[in-house]
Amino acid sequence: MTPDIFDVTIIGGGPVGLYGLFYAGLRGMKAKLIDALPELGGQLITLYPEKYIYDVAGFPKILARDLAKNLISQALSYNPKIHLGERVISLEQEQNEDRLYYRLLTEAGNEHITSTVVLTAGIGAFRPRKLPIPELDRFEGNGVHYFVNKKELFSGKKVLIVGGGDSAVDWAINLLDTASKITLIHRRDKFRAHEKNVAQLMNSPVDVRTYHELKKVIANEKIVGSVIYDNRTLEEKALEVDAIILNLGFQADLGPLKTWGLDIDRTGVKVNYRMETNLPGIFAAGDIASHPGKLKLISTGFGEVATAINFAKNYVDPDSKVFPGHSSDLSSR
Ligand code: FAD
Repeated sequence: MTPDIFDVTIIGGGPVGLYGLFYAGLRGMKAKLIDALPELGGQLITLYPEKYIYDVAGFPKILARDLAKNLISQALSYNPKIHLGERVISLEQEQNEDRLYYRLLTEAGNEHITSTVVLTAGIGAFRPRKLPIPELDRFEGNGVHYFVNKKELFSGKKVLIVGGGDSAVDWAINLLDTASKITLIHRRDKFRAHEKNVAQLMNSPVDVRTYHELKKVIANEKIVGSVIYDNRTLEEKALEVDAIILNLGFQADLGPLKTWGLDIDRTGVKVNYRMETNLPGIFAAGDIASHPGKLKLISTGFGEVATAINFAKNYVDPDSKVFPGHSSDLSSR
């Protein structure tokens, strides 16, 4: 089956990509967004969900998590297509009669065809940080989890959570009404999570063990236990567990994007005043875009992506104006 041809495909669902998705809808474009993670929000959600941001216009202060929530709600205004958990690995040009298209292939094996691309890939595709313990790979998705999409998966289970950041602490508290027992191990005694949540964790039935790390996973056809150790004394302890959640942070990697024929310098993908790259119809905005005077900030990223989308609109439909008019002149939606 031939995949649908989209006017614009946005690669990256961070703050800049999300605002671009809204803007593409505003311009009446058939728009799609793809992100490698199962969740939208980019750095706001993966790196600092509980931090306040003070320099987003119109918000004296806003939690990164809440800004992501608002951006997602705005991005969904025009019912765009969103593909999560798909890392784009290749981009190929295709000439079809007198039109140029791009064919994007994702790690999940899906193809996406599009007239233009807006790259808002930030500092690269995020992947959860992993531990070099072989059984973890074998049981990924079936007892070993890096994200919690469905709480029911942990119903009645003895869960081991590894990590000391917001996600580890949040999930330990959140799964108390679902799991039969929760142990949280963290290699230090200081948590990188919101103070209020750490206090709640410490006063909860969660078995918290600081200075502990995961050594081994014990499994037959499924996970039945684990061995943890005290990193000060190296003393080992066996724990009965049925599920392991690893919240060890994320690594970002530009990876295959570097091989797509884009002109890249030390700070990112080079763009001109239209936010267009050296490849026709491929635009870039946000942290990934490089131009003289570049500032890697959310507020400048919003402006860049509005420019990118307006020029992408004009690229797809040369009769359309680049200037979008004022949104306040639209009849209310
Ligand atoms: P990102 O947020 O990085 O999102 C990019 C997305 O693209 C990711 O979700 C990634 O998974 C996806 N992606 C990448 N490659 C692929 C691929 N090949 N296929 C599919 N998906 C892909 N800025 C401010 O303005 N004010 C602040 O106060 C502020 N505080 C910060 C605090 C911290 C701790 C950090 C780390 C940053 C802070 N920033 C702040 C910077 C700000 O978060 C970034 O400028 C912003 O997130 C950039 O947005 P983006 O959408 O360009 O990229």
